Amino acid sequence: MEANKEEVVSKNFIEQEIDKDLAEGVYDHVQTRFPPEPNGYLHIGHAKSILLNYGLAQKYGGKFNLRFDDTNPTKEKTEFVESIMEDVKWLGADFEDRLFFASNYFQEMYDCAVLLIKKGKAFVCDLTAEEIREYRGDFKTPGKESPYRNRSVEENLKLFEEMKEGKYQDGEKVLRAKIDMASPNINMRDPVIYRVARMTHHNTGDQWCIYPMYDFAHPIEDAIERITHSICTLEFEDHRPLYDWVVKECEYANPPRQIEFAKLYLTNVVTGKRYIKKLVEDGIVDGWDDPRLVSIAALRRRGYTPESLRMFVDLVGVSKANSSVDYAMLEYCIREDLKLKKPRMMAILDPVKLVIDNYPEDTIEYLDVANNLENPELGERKVPFGKELYIEREDFMEEPIKKYFRLFPGNEVRLMNAYFVTCSSCEKDADGNVTVVHCTYDPETKSGSGFEGRKVKGTIHWVASSTAVQAECRLYENIVDEEKGKLNEDGSLNLNPNSLTILKNCFVEPGFLSAKAYDSFQFVRNGFFCIDCKDSREDHLVFNRIVSLKSSFKITK
Ligand code: ATP
Ligand code: MG
Repeated sequence: MEANKEEVVSKNFIEQEIDKDLAEGVYDHVQTRFPPEPNGYLHIGHAKSILLNYGLAQKYGGKFNLRFDDTNPTKEKTEFVESIMEDVKWLGADFEDRLFFASNYFQEMYDCAVLLIKKGKAFVCDLTAEEIREYRGDFKTPGKESPYRNRSVEENLKLFEEMKEGKYQDGEKVLRAKIDMASPNINMRDPVIYRVARMTHHNTGDQWCIYPMYDFAHPIEDAIERITHSICTLEFEDHRPLYDWVVKECEYANPPRQIEFAKLYLTNVVTGKRYIKKLVEDGIVDGWDDPRLVSIAALRRRGYTPESLRMFVDLVGVSKANSSVDYAMLEYCIREDLKLKKPRMMAILDPVKLVIDNYPEDTIEYLDVANNLENPELGERKVPFGKELYIEREDFMEEPIKKYFRLFPGNEVRLMNAYFVTCSSCEKDADGNVTVVHCTYDPETKSGSGFEGRKVKGTIHWVASSTAVQAECRLYENIVDEEKGKLNEDGSLNLNPNSLTILKNCFVEPGFLSAKAYDSFQFVRNGFFCIDCKDSREDHLVFNRIVSLKSSFKITK
């Protein structure tokens, strides 16, 4: 008999639970969902949840729903519904026609509430919000029962109907589940399940003036959609007994099973909606998609790809313990994704002129340059070369420091993809700043000619000045300085003053003129850059630096 090689696959704890449920016949299929509240833009943490839920559906041949948990009209907006759909699609989590809105279930939720009343499991309560809070008790003290707890079913039905018909003001009456005021789990102490709120809803307009509370609505939404595994973050663990109570008492067959995992946190960035909103409102960042943020829109604008985010989420894995992931890991993923896919172009961020004194005037030579030496499939391009070039200011030193192998008087270097040049002198302005570097070239040393006469230690990149295109480059650092503490003593964010550097006088190869929004490139020696989708125009190119080339982060296996 042939020995079967056993496949070694390590499964995360969620997959192990799902395997068990399928093996025991608790469910015969897998149905997951991502249930955002449309009250802000999605961020990297949500990306994790989306890809996790979508990935599980795929892995088990199941289905994935995108469902808006839009039961609280105070903060919800159509703008957010649209941005969320765009982000989920962009990430590659295909929800096809499986798009749902919790607000479409308002009637069914109302019917569930009526059922609970009829079963003696819910009552209308006249206590104020503050009284309800006082009566609830805390971890040490058991709660006190509401004086309205024992209203008759008939009275409750009548009052709840009147709540629905608009007879009461906001806060005047609520519907509460009748569970257990002495429960050690505070969520079980007769939680409010419906409230009066005269608000226009983005989907149902003015049809309703009572709205279900999240903890009542959420499990019903999952049950209606026949979700098998409700995957959510740890803060909902304590709510699970209530969710289970709701679906059981509302008599749903095959109720969903909730499994919790730890939220994703990243170092040196801001993920909380509250903080991002403040940064936007205070004008510290340029909207929700400012490339220094980690909303999905911001990551996309910065030049991150869905592939890089998928790699990141896979590397991070799922866990039950809260922890922060090093931002450098995200950077590692985008470098890995782009390094073979993108052409490597020459661009000068901090220019100084280089004049080749012995090169003919008014001559443009077109050099053949490989787009990516590690990936021949990307082909070649023609790069113009001439007498006057731009080079990086830091590639010349009049008086070189030790181990400096780039340009200084008397030294020879290689101009990448072109010739060897030897520096002769420099010109300076009245303040002593170098304005022009002079050199001579050796025509024998042309790149690709097979010249092997001598070697040089330094190679620098350049752009021919007559054909160069002026561009703006934006360099980024982390928005908060975590080393010194993410928050200041007054609770405000400890912002990094250098999070954005704008360089307006950069020069790039003319080949960039056809680049479109979101196109990305490697700028040799300077990092990966992406065309800014908001501000870049054909006559004023704007690039965002996605990430530099150097990394402090290593994957150890
Ligand atoms: P925030 O706390 O940033 O405002 P939220 O939890 O209010 O986010 P929701 O729209 O309620 O946002 O979340 C939708 C889903 O995304 C929920 O299932 C939630 O558990 C999950 N989620 C939110 N933040 C994270 C995170 N940092 N990591 C993983 N999943 C997350
Ligand atoms: Mg939330």
